Amino acid sequence: MYTLNDKINSFEPYKPDTAKYDIKADANESFITLPASLRMKLARAAMDLDYNIYPDCLATETCRAFAAYHNIPEAYITAGNGSDELISVITSAFLKKGDTILTFKPDFSMYAFYGSIYENSCIALEKDENFKIDVDHAINFAKEHNVNMLIFSNPCNPTGQGMERADVEKIISSLEHTLVVVDEAYMEFYSESVLDLVGQYDNLIVLKTCSKAFGLAALRLGFAVAGKKLTNVLRNVKSPYNVNSVTQAFGKIVLENRKYIDNAINDMLASRNMLYKELKKLSERFEDEIYVYPTNTNFVLVRTDLAEKIHKRLCLEGISIRHIFKNHLRISASSADNNKKIISAIAKVIAEKEN
Ligand SMILES: *Cc1c(COP(=O)(O)O)cnc(C)c1O
Repeated sequence: MYTLNDKINSFEPYKPDTAKYDIKADANESFITLPASLRMKLARAAMDLDYNIYPDCLATETCRAFAAYHNIPEAYITAGNGSDELISVITSAFLKKGDTILTFKPDFSMYAFYGSIYENSCIALEKDENFKIDVDHAINFAKEHNVNMLIFSNPCNPTGQGMERADVEKIISSLEHTLVVVDEAYMEFYSESVLDLVGQYDNLIVLKTCSKAFGLAALRLGFAVAGKKLTNVLRNVKSPYNVNSVTQAFGKIVLENRKYIDNAINDMLASRNMLYKELKKLSERFEDEIYVYPTNTNFVLVRTDLAEKIHKRLCLEGISIRHIFKNHLRISASSADNNKKIISAIAKVIAEKEN
């Protein structure tokens, strides 16, 4: 009989909610669908693809479009099958078995997920009650424990809190012997990016994704941005044909369509502001029941002892939001209409308790 080893036996899988909902506000995806004109361009590109030929290993034209969008050198970019794949590639390639990963709690769960698969020791430093990071403590801790890789999201999923660029740079410059990975999946909603620092620090990798602000979660396209030394490694260790030709072609077209992207980001920010404002009003009406955290992302985190109840009730009404660490809810900004439905469904559950 084949026996599973201890590592895989104790492994905790990532389990997204795959049920169908009328309103999906649980995964921070964009609520904006691609305009018809852009879909036509994708359809034409799909017609012309060479389906019998392997994709371009380096996704050259897609990386070029990404470089142009951010005005950074192409030589700094590696494309991945979502930034998720890049987290896996970075963890497996740059770290040896038993090496130490430092991250924070709470932060994106995939960092520990891959750390566990590759048999690294993963330490998560607790954030304060406002989910802020003590930067000096993190730096000292990383030095004392000879941390091999420090990885965190900025702004953070699931807390929605951003760290100022000066603090991020302080971390990078203070830990020259540590690989620092800054996951900027939501940086389009905040403006403290360190993307422009990759040429200056040879221990820095910045991760970007097309799954959130760009509205392309279905395509699976992400980028690692780093100086030439690290980029050279990334390109060598990733699997050769990691980004398929359809994704390369579609990603390039969308990245070149600046107007769609700029509009989408504006609309998502407006929707996020509305969601935040309405939740805030709710928290003023029921101040003992719900606390709303400030946000630098396209979602809003709230704390409420009714979290489980609200989550269940919304599910029954065809609305999916994310229930995390017992008494928190993470709600992705959606269309104005959907935001209203979400708010009134939450208000109903809270009002019932009050009566
Ligand atoms: C959504 C998200 C990603 C994106 O992953 P993809 O694999 O590119 O879809 C990466 N990091 C964080 C923190 C996220 O929330």
